[in-house]
Amino acid sequence: MIYVPNTIREMIVGGALFVLNDSGGKDSQAMRIALREIVPAAQKIVIHASLGDVEWPGALEHAQAGAERDGLPFVVARAVKTFFEMVEHRFRVRPGPNSPCWPSASNRQCTSDLKRGPIEREVRRVLRERGLKRVVTCMGIRAEESSGRAKQQPLRRSSRNSRAGRDWWEWLPIHTLTRSQVFAMISHANEAPHAAYALGNDRLSCMFCIMGSRNDLANAARQNPDLYRRYVDVEKRTGYTMHQSRIPLEVLTGVST
Ligand code: SF4
Repeated sequence: MIYVPNTIREMIVGGALFVLNDSGGKDSQAMRIALREIVPAAQKIVIHASLGDVEWPGALEHAQAGAERDGLPFVVARAVKTFFEMVEHRFRVRPGPNSPCWPSASNRQCTSDLKRGPIEREVRRVLRERGLKRVVTCMGIRAEESSGRAKQQPLRRSSRNSRAGRDWWEWLPIHTLTRSQVFAMISHANEAPHAAYALGNDRLSCMFCIMGSRNDLANAARQNPDLYRRYVDVEKRTGYTMHQSRIPLEVLTGVST
């Protein structure tokens, strides 16, 4: 069901390490299933970037259970700071009123500091430990999700992470799959997606994402009122709204604290 470029086939034959980024969400899960018959298990590891208490409960365990089902090593990448520590720091050092303390779609410090950075650190460690020089990091990003994601190249060499003696590629194996194909793939593999989807969630990662849909945010507010209150409290204290729409959370979700 997925297209495998020749470069990837050569990387497989050449013994490269394939790192499956797994948020615990449906797309990561479908990607792991899709790669089952394509990349030998001995060449794969699963990494979950833990966002601690701001991510959906059970996301880490869901990713871990999937890795164990496929007999793959499971690595947890943890940032040195929490999401709220990052927000509070941004508030303290902001240069002026036009510099919000929350990350934004155009400045996703949450992704770079809490996910990408810690994941890349773990990848470098595993490469060192295994004495490997070639790696393909795989992400379950799909074109259908947004115009920005549709424009992403499904396969590209990471110039930021490649250097003499280290060849680093980034691959989006399920870039062309639709939402329904993803759920079908999970179901055909006799697996179940994270329980948040049964509650009506569309996506899964931080319970309250700066780019989350009204539906997902309202779901999260009902499921975790304590965490919801923390976000709303920071919005009220700082005067900056968390969501990219600039609409206060209580208005977006329709849920009062
Ligand atoms: S899920 Fe949203 S808020 Fe959380 S790290 Fe990703 S972009 Fe940031």
